[in-house]
Amino acid sequence: MKSRFAPSPTGYLHIGGARTALFAWAWAKKQQGQFVLRIEDTDRERSTQASVDAILDGMNWLGLAHDEGPFYQTQRFDRYQEIIEQLLSENKAYYCECSKERLQVLRDELTEKGEKAKYDGCCRDKKLKSGVVRFKNPLTGFVTFKDAVKGQISIGNQELDDLIIARSDGTPTYNLTVVVDDHDMDIDTVIRGDDHINNTPRQINLYEALGWSLPKFAHLPMILGSDGARLSKRHGAVSVMAYRDEGFLPEALLNYLVRLGWSHGDQEIFSLSEIVELFDLENINKAPASFNQEKLLWLNQEYIKTSSVENLLKNLAWHLDNQSVDTSKGPVIEAVIKHLQERSKTLVEMVDSLKMFYHDFDEFDKKLAAKQFKDSQPIELLLTKLEVLDDWVADNIKEQIKQTCEELGIGFGKIGQPFRLALSGNGNAGNIDVVAQLVGKDRTLARLQMALDYIAQHSH
Ligand code: GLU
Repeated sequence: MKSRFAPSPTGYLHIGGARTALFAWAWAKKQQGQFVLRIEDTDRERSTQASVDAILDGMNWLGLAHDEGPFYQTQRFDRYQEIIEQLLSENKAYYCECSKERLQVLRDELTEKGEKAKYDGCCRDKKLKSGVVRFKNPLTGFVTFKDAVKGQISIGNQELDDLIIARSDGTPTYNLTVVVDDHDMDIDTVIRGDDHINNTPRQINLYEALGWSLPKFAHLPMILGSDGARLSKRHGAVSVMAYRDEGFLPEALLNYLVRLGWSHGDQEIFSLSEIVELFDLENINKAPASFNQEKLLWLNQEYIKTSSVENLLKNLAWHLDNQSVDTSKGPVIEAVIKHLQERSKTLVEMVDSLKMFYHDFDEFDKKLAAKQFKDSQPIELLLTKLEVLDDWVADNIKEQIKQTCEELGIGFGKIGQPFRLALSGNGNAGNIDVVAQLVGKDRTLARLQMALDYIAQHSH
C-alpha cells in the first residue's frame, strides 16, 4: 500500500499542506505501507529551491518521514514525453494551434451566453504537427467515482473539455504528470485537498485512456480561518515553520492537525502511535474545518506539561540558540526545564523564563520595582540569613523566608514579592524557594544586594 504527498514548491509548507501530508502519512503507516514524497516542480517559473528546502525542513521538523523519494517531476520529463507521444500516436491526443486571442473570443462568447467556458475542439481532427497537446476527452457519458470523503461523484463528459497535457514548449502539465506519477509510483490512495476535486474526473479519463487502474481518492475539505474565510496569512501564521518559531512542539501541531477534519469519538489527545493506529478515511469530516489558535495553544501547553525533559530539551535547542541563551554557566538545565514545564504555554515562553537562571540582568522592571522595592528591612534580614545558609536547597530557603516573616511580623507577600522580583528582574518566577535554589546561592545573594542598592538609590 502506498500513499503520497505531492506539494508544488512555490512557497513554504503551510498548515493545509501539512495536514494533507499527515493524513497521507498516517494512512500509509496504518497499513504498514509506504509514504512517498513527490515534489511537483514542473512549473519552473514558480518553483524554487528555497521552497523545496522549506518543504523538506517542515516535513522533517514534523517528523513525517517519507519511505520513498523525494522524487522530482523535473527529472521525469522523458517519461512524460513518452506518454504524451503514446497518446498522440494512439489518436487519444492532438496538437492544437488555437491562438490565445481565438480562445479568449470563444470564452467571452460562451460566458455571454451563460455557458461554461470550455474549448470547442476546433483542432481535434486537423492532424496538426505542433502547438499545445490536448487530450481527447470522451464526448459523451459520465465519469463516476466514489470519493472516500465526499461519496459518489458523477460528472458528464460534456462538461469537460480537451485538456492541455503539454504546453507548446513541450513541458507537461499537472493533470498529465500527476496521473503518470501516481501510476508509476504505485500509489493506491490519492489523498489531497478538495481544491483538486475538479481535476479528478479529467485525470480518471486519462487513466482510462492509458488502460491503467484507478487509485482510490480522498479529497480533504478546506481549512477555514476564524471568520469562515479560507485560512490565509491574515489569520496569523500559516507556515509550519512559523509554529516552530513561535514555540510549538511538533507533536502538538500534529495532534492539532489530525483533529482538523478527522475525529475519533470525542478524543482530543492523540499520540503519534495512536494516530497511526486509529486513523481512517471514513471519519474524515465532509465539512470544512475551522482553524482555532486557542485550541492549538491549549494542546501545546498540555504537551509541554507531559513531555519528557529530554524531548523538551531537544526541541528547546533551536530556541536557545535563536535567543542566544547560553546555559553553560548555571543550574543543570534539566532541573530548570522540569520547573518550567508546568508553567509554559510555548517553548518561546519557556526560554524567556529560563534566561534568569543563566543570565544576569542590569535592571529591574521599573514599574514593579517602584512598587515592590520600598522597604529594605525584609530584604536585608533575608539576605543575612541566606548568606550563612550552607545547605542551599528549596526547603531550607523556604524556612529562612518564614523566619524572616516571623521576626518582622510581616506576611509572606511582603518578602515573597520583592524576593521574586529581585531574582527574576521582571517578577515572572514560580515557587520562589525552588527558583532560588536553581538560581544558586551566589547569584541569589548578588541579586538581593542589587535590590538593596536599588532601594538605597531611590529612597529619597
Ligand atoms: N501539486 C499539487 C499541489 O500542491 C498537489 C497535487 C496532488 O496532490 O494531486 O496542489
